[in-house]
Amino acid sequence: MAEAGDNRGQGRALWPALRHGFRRRCPNCGTGGVFKGYLSVRDHCPVCEEALYHQRADDGPAYLTILIVGHVMAPLILGVYAALRPDPLIMASVFSVGTVALSLYLLPRLKGMMIAFQWAKRMHGFGPDPVEGEMEMPALGDEAAAE
Ligand SMILES: [Zn+2]
Repeated sequence: MAEAGDNRGQGRALWPALRHGFRRRCPNCGTGGVFKGYLSVRDHCPVCEEALYHQRADDGPAYLTILIVGHVMAPLILGVYAALRPDPLIMASVFSVGTVALSLYLLPRLKGMMIAFQWAKRMHGFGPDPVEGEMEMPALGDEAAAE
């Protein structure tokens, strides 16, 4: 499979990269860890030296975490309340812990996936190592001349 190894300058498969990202692994080799702590991204993969500092995940992982956790927990809260009518203190305790636990589980995994997506789509400097002449911006007026 094309999952391992250095594929800079070649096509980058999105789904293997996203799987590696969910496992908090380097999108390039799938072996080295992306994070040095809970959410701090390494500058380079410790195994394949792929540059990871280009990532611009920003608030995206938090947004996706809130989106997913909200859509999982809100119907669950309604369903449990409608079916069981538990004591409010028990319900608040269980769902508070569950919501925090699910959020803490998903946040680094979604951040890994977002970094992998950016890597696979060559966003924010994740492009190939510049080959001479390949990455040069066309001068103004070249679009008309090229057509
Ligand atoms: Zn790597």
